[in-house]
Amino acid sequence: MKHPVFGAASILSQTHSDPHMGVNPSISDSSTFYFDRAKDMSDTFIGETEGMYLYSRHSSPTNNALASSLAAMEGTQDACVFGSGMGAISAVLFQLCAAGDHIVSSQTIYGGSYALLKNFMPKFGINSSFVDPTNLDSVSQAIGPKTKVLYCETMSNPLLEITQLKAMSELAEKHNLTLVVDNTFSPLMVAPAKHGAHIVIHSLTKFINGTSDAIAGAVCASKAFCESLKSVMDGAGMLFGSTLDAQRAANILKNMKTLPIRLAKHSENALHIAGGLVNAGYRVSYPGLDSHPGKKILEQQLEAGFGYGGLMTLDAQTPEKANTLMEYMQQEGLGYLAVSLGFYKTLFSASASSTSSEISADDQQAMGLSKGLIRFSIGLDHEPENSLQKILLGLKTLAV
Ligand SMILES: *Cc1c(COP(=O)(O)O)cnc(C)c1O
Repeated sequence: MKHPVFGAASILSQTHSDPHMGVNPSISDSSTFYFDRAKDMSDTFIGETEGMYLYSRHSSPTNNALASSLAAMEGTQDACVFGSGMGAISAVLFQLCAAGDHIVSSQTIYGGSYALLKNFMPKFGINSSFVDPTNLDSVSQAIGPKTKVLYCETMSNPLLEITQLKAMSELAEKHNLTLVVDNTFSPLMVAPAKHGAHIVIHSLTKFINGTSDAIAGAVCASKAFCESLKSVMDGAGMLFGSTLDAQRAANILKNMKTLPIRLAKHSENALHIAGGLVNAGYRVSYPGLDSHPGKKILEQQLEAGFGYGGLMTLDAQTPEKANTLMEYMQQEGLGYLAVSLGFYKTLFSASASSTSSEISADDQQAMGLSKGLIRFSIGLDHEPENSLQKILLGLKTLAV
């Protein structure tokens, strides 16, 4: 696969043609499409006509416009969009695996992805081994004759560990596996396909949309794989039916165009706040800090201009202290005690009891997820110093 242009440049340089000369593509408002010639309909069913639409669960002009922008961003041949990030993830994994197949997955992944792999897919004879993605020996040892897929996140949730994508792709190559990378935490910052990922997944719900008003997902991959997801005969995208609504797709596409400037500001604010907390002696994890074990690895795969991302964690030691601090921060208007990420306001939640609660207490402990860990998605505040001072005051007065 070639990646001539990708990233921010390709998002903003894209233009489109519109029958009404609108600067935004027209929103397609149809679930079904008519044909002048009956033969075109039957050809479209077997996937043999370019530029013709059949039924919007399969594809629609607006969803395709969003998909094409995502493919350009990730530097992949093609992309397709879904009604949620989990819709994208489940479609991809069920498309790639059959009963008896095995997946090697990072242990520190999104709670929903973990629950899918650990609790749901085994019902269909698809089992997974969970490994520490920063320990390549353990990844390698988990690969067996039945393994089909290597699954990880560029930047893990919530521990913000950094995956060595190049090394993972070499392992995938050696064992003939498909490397699937969830890049939700680091759009534009890292282009996993450039480092050998075969399939890149996004929850568009987060940074890419950025307004916390929609749920959506995407798969960026080869044309052949995207076509296979859409197959009316055996495509998991088509048959599971987690379709994105065209109105939503249109909104997400417009929001996506400001991702480059938003992400740079999220990163700038996060670095400021994380740095200030560390200087004051608190236990903070942020990939842009020298103390972060993955900083060097991230820098090897980082695209310039977007910083180190908008996510950081603060260890408040106990769940009680974490809760007190979060309630204080919300009362002070610093942001919202809410899950999710990529919003213009800062969002914070205690991962162990929320977005990672699908992971058992024992497994959480094994992976180093402290019960008092607060995950922050730092917002777009004009003056991050004010937020920093508020957090510091809260930590001091609450003796966290
Ligand atoms: C939120 C999230 C998902 C799931 O996406 P939805 O849009 O909520 O279905 C998957 N992976 C990561 C890393 C996420 O943060």
